Amino acid sequence: MFQPKPLTFGWEEWVALPDLGLPAIRAKVDTGARTSALHASDIETFGPVSHPRVRFSVQPIPGRTDLAIACSAELVDRREVTSSNGESELRYVIRTNLTVAGQSWPIEVTLTNRSGMASRMLLGRQALSEHISIAPTERNLQPELSYDVYHSQQVRRAAPKRALRIAVLSRENNYSTKRLVETGEARGHVVEVIDTARCYMAINALAPEVHYDGKRLPRYDAVIPRIGASITPYGTAVIRQFETIGTFCVNGSAGITASRDKLHAHQVLAARQIGMPVTAFAASPKDTDNLIELVGDAPLVVKLLESTQGKGVVLAETTKAAESVISAFRGLRANFLVQQFVKEAAGEDIRCLVVGSRVVAAMKRTGAEGDFRSNLHQGGTATAVRITKEERDTALRAARAFGLNLAGVDLLRSSDGPKVLEVNSSPGFEGIETATGKDIVGKLYDEIELRVRPQPVRRRKAAASEDA
Ligand code: ADP
Repeated sequence: MFQPKPLTFGWEEWVALPDLGLPAIRAKVDTGARTSALHASDIETFGPVSHPRVRFSVQPIPGRTDLAIACSAELVDRREVTSSNGESELRYVIRTNLTVAGQSWPIEVTLTNRSGMASRMLLGRQALSEHISIAPTERNLQPELSYDVYHSQQVRRAAPKRALRIAVLSRENNYSTKRLVETGEARGHVVEVIDTARCYMAINALAPEVHYDGKRLPRYDAVIPRIGASITPYGTAVIRQFETIGTFCVNGSAGITASRDKLHAHQVLAARQIGMPVTAFAASPKDTDNLIELVGDAPLVVKLLESTQGKGVVLAETTKAAESVISAFRGLRANFLVQQFVKEAAGEDIRCLVVGSRVVAAMKRTGAEGDFRSNLHQGGTATAVRITKEERDTALRAARAFGLNLAGVDLLRSSDGPKVLEVNSSPGFEGIETATGKDIVGKLYDEIELRVRPQPVRRRKAAASEDA
């Protein structure tokens, strides 16, 4: 049984709420109130009815709206509370540990976002158990803490492992989506699958929001975009909206857009001097010969820009064949590029899966007999592979070029080093998890949990407002 040492509190004391990731907060003692109260904003419940949780943010430093700590807690009750000014309000109640002078004890706290509440926190009678006596004319009788923790990396370390509310933007209920939901839930998070095409938005400078099924979507801790190629422009607009709100998106809209467009992607990679097959493209039919010349002699690869799963990729063995394919594509008004054929790759490519700043798995895909395309959708097979340091660095640089935290980078092994074919911002998990036996989705959650931790804020010169 917890045996507290007696403590004396003045009318104001420094306290910590470690379970919420609030290592220092000033609290006023309010013996007129029964339950303690915390000044919070964006208060939203989430999770299953049998196990409801509440998500809210707290600005621990008065006057510093740029620092908001996102908190999650189990919901214990909803209660009518009458505040000192006589107004009553229905408030969510959580239970959390209060730490003062090295001692911790559980207290109940109501959440309120009444702007009239001058203090970040009020300590009511229930929190001031028998071991505490009050000296109402004094203050700071307990060890003083400092807001410095919020200005340093300490704020990240102090962040507890908490339940996150995560949206998977996906239209498909496939292996990858299911794994994202199951793995997230097994880690105690709440994962909601949102059909991107059914999101709608009001573009508004003051209150950017995303709506869905007649309701405003809540504030998510993280968004995992799984945007299909067919809805890239709309899907990236939805992600941009989440970015405006300040939600952590595993992959950003700009990176998805640039990597999806083969021409744009090649320009980005070339600008970073990342190895890729010699590639040329043109819009006018007059340039066909010159285009072929730019790339070199046949054999050549001609690719439809919209190609996925290897469907629009043709190998032209001779220059004549290349010309015919190009004129056929032009006749169809299709956009395409012409590329040097990397023969040494011999129908194989390497898929490197990048999560954060690491290649977490790699597999070799080998095309079906007689096919130079190694896509699994074209009958290719996959096996785990050890990659070289050069291949690893190339894959990481390619993912970074688009700012992607999750990417499938496809490389060809050429005689002069790795050549990037494509950077995929929604890589499938099934093939690579099966081939390598690795828990890639688990690694993705490690990254998300790390990234949603609070960031330190810069100190301000005048500390006057902090003393208010
Ligand atoms: P998609 O986006 O449709 O999958 P890719 O550009 O990835 O198109 O090409 C499909 C497959 O064709 C690749 O996985 C690779 O095996 C093969 N391939 C593509 N480009 C080349 C090339 N320039 N040289 C050799 N093989 C290639």
